[in-house]
Amino acid sequence: MSEQPTNPASILVVDDEVNGFDVIETLLFDQGYQLYYAPSGEKALEFLQTCQPDVILLDVMMPEMDGMEVCRRVKAGYDGQYIPIIMVTALTAKENLAQCLQAGADDFVGKPINGLELRARVASMLRIRQQHKNIEQLCLQLQSNNQNLEAEVAERTKQLQQRIHYDPLTGFPSRTSLLETLERELSHCQKYNQSLALLYIDCDEFNLINSSLGYEIGDRILVAISERLSSYLKSEDRLFRTGEDEFCILLKSIKDTKELSETAADILQLFEESFVVESYETFISVSIGISLTNAEYQNPQDMVRDADTAMYKAKTKGPGTYRIFDQELKNAIGKRLSLENDLRRALERKEFIVYYQPIINLKTEQICGFEALIRWQHPQRGMVSPGEFIPCLEDTGFIVPVGLEVMQQACQQLKTWQEQGATDLEMSVNLSVRQFSHPTLLEDLHRIIQTNNIHPSDLKLEITESAIVDNPDATVTSIQKMRQAQIKLAIDDFGTGYSSLSYLQKFPVDNLKVDRSFVKSISENHRNYYILQEIVKLGQALGMTVTAEGIETETQMRQLQNLGCEYAQGYFFAKPMSGEEATQLLREKIAV
Ligand code: C2E
Ligand code: MG
Ligand code: MG
Repeated sequence: MSEQPTNPASILVVDDEVNGFDVIETLLFDQGYQLYYAPSGEKALEFLQTCQPDVILLDVMMPEMDGMEVCRRVKAGYDGQYIPIIMVTALTAKENLAQCLQAGADDFVGKPINGLELRARVASMLRIRQQHKNIEQLCLQLQSNNQNLEAEVAERTKQLQQRIHYDPLTGFPSRTSLLETLERELSHCQKYNQSLALLYIDCDEFNLINSSLGYEIGDRILVAISERLSSYLKSEDRLFRTGEDEFCILLKSIKDTKELSETAADILQLFEESFVVESYETFISVSIGISLTNAEYQNPQDMVRDADTAMYKAKTKGPGTYRIFDQELKNAIGKRLSLENDLRRALERKEFIVYYQPIINLKTEQICGFEALIRWQHPQRGMVSPGEFIPCLEDTGFIVPVGLEVMQQACQQLKTWQEQGATDLEMSVNLSVRQFSHPTLLEDLHRIIQTNNIHPSDLKLEITESAIVDNPDATVTSIQKMRQAQIKLAIDDFGTGYSSLSYLQKFPVDNLKVDRSFVKSISENHRNYYILQEIVKLGQALGMTVTAEGIETETQMRQLQNLGCEYAQGYFFAKPMSGEEATQLLREKIAV
């Protein structure tokens, strides 16, 4: 910014004697300033109401209002406070000058006025004035920038609000909108005793569309779905896009569940026709969960949650189905929640115990190991089997600490038996998918093995085929680490999961536990006999031993012996039993 004023600088000269003005005018004659004259303090103040000079030259000695008073008043005013004032005075004693400064003056020149001094002082004050003007301008600029910024922020906020409330892809209201609308509608329904239904619609396996046709086509199909859904709706109903492949419909004035079921069936039917985008024709089905208003819904989230739960339930029935959230579902969820709570407490209260089922060497017909099988000693229900609670433990991830507890108990029991003389025993422990992929599994195993002072090769972990197939890369690494640590591995329920045998080469384990469904009908069903024969041969070829599960009769045992199967386990030999019972059994059989 230039320091030089572009317009001529203006100077107001205040003096009761016109001669005083004349002297100054003469002295500043060639400086290019614009001079104004005020013959009294009042006139000067009057002048300042309309004009803003750059400097004021103010005579001190004036009748009525003297220069000091004028100076004070000018500096007290909003417009005058930044105008530099040079006092013109014959009284140049220090105290007089100090009084001038106290009154707010910026400088002074003594009378008689020296031209050089006057010009220098005026120029100096003009510089200060210009600097102040520059700052003022900067402030104005800043103010305007600020205003622009505020306007921009306001615009962005508006856009953001729009984005929060509307889905940019389909243009339909979003999940936030749904919750807000639902909140209003719920209180309306309660007030006027009306009903409202929420349909939670989720596309079945939409990820397959994205992965096979790409996200661009996927997006266009989603737009087409939203259009198809909205074309079905009545004017008072509302469609929302609440997630990637999720839509919600709010249906007002629904009469009864019969009408609701018809509507859901109609919506499912909308998807019988294919979607064509570019040259791709695809069929998509949806699963629908429905919640209906009732007095219990105090907030929108609850109603959405129940519709969502019903939708997941519908998905378990198969694609293209709907489910209304009803009392039955509510009870099931209640039961499940209380099971979760009970299980949480069960670990603290040490209600989990381990049963042991012997594994028999078919050549020697002697016990060669045990499988540790968890039991829940429920304070009211008695002994609960794992089938009832393992899935819940897996879903909640609680299987990890519970599984470690089983492992600890089993290893401790093994050590006790070894110390009592049964040195050739192996302990098999089941591991679920969640446990097998848990990052601290190996550390935990090492700790338990060390604490109980057993040899790692006395421990055999049973994993299911799904644990392998679900996460093949991580499994290869885990299996390698287990092998390095000398811990044995078995594939449990072999033959029930994935019939592909190719993974056996990739995942070298020590043992295959053939599922009991093969053993069960071995004598009546020749097919199963041959399958078992092949599995035994396959195991031998790959260097794996084979254990047959679920032997219930002597005939089954003999047949498996004929097939050359190494190990067996089943009710024929013994059912799973407590640690004490197993100790007793060992005593009888091998005189521990
Ligand atoms: P699994 O590992 O295949 O265990 C064998 C199951 O078959 C056991 O059921 C056992 O009692 C039963 N069984 C053994 N012999 C016979 C027989 O001759 N006939 C019949 N009908 N059944 C027989 P259980 O103890 O109810 O365990 C069921 C499943 O629960 C186990 O199947 C295993 O997958 C799981 N499980 C048990 N304990 C644990 C554990 O500590 N951790 C994990 N992750 N899973 C466990
Ligand atoms: Mg098992
Ligand atoms: Mg099994």
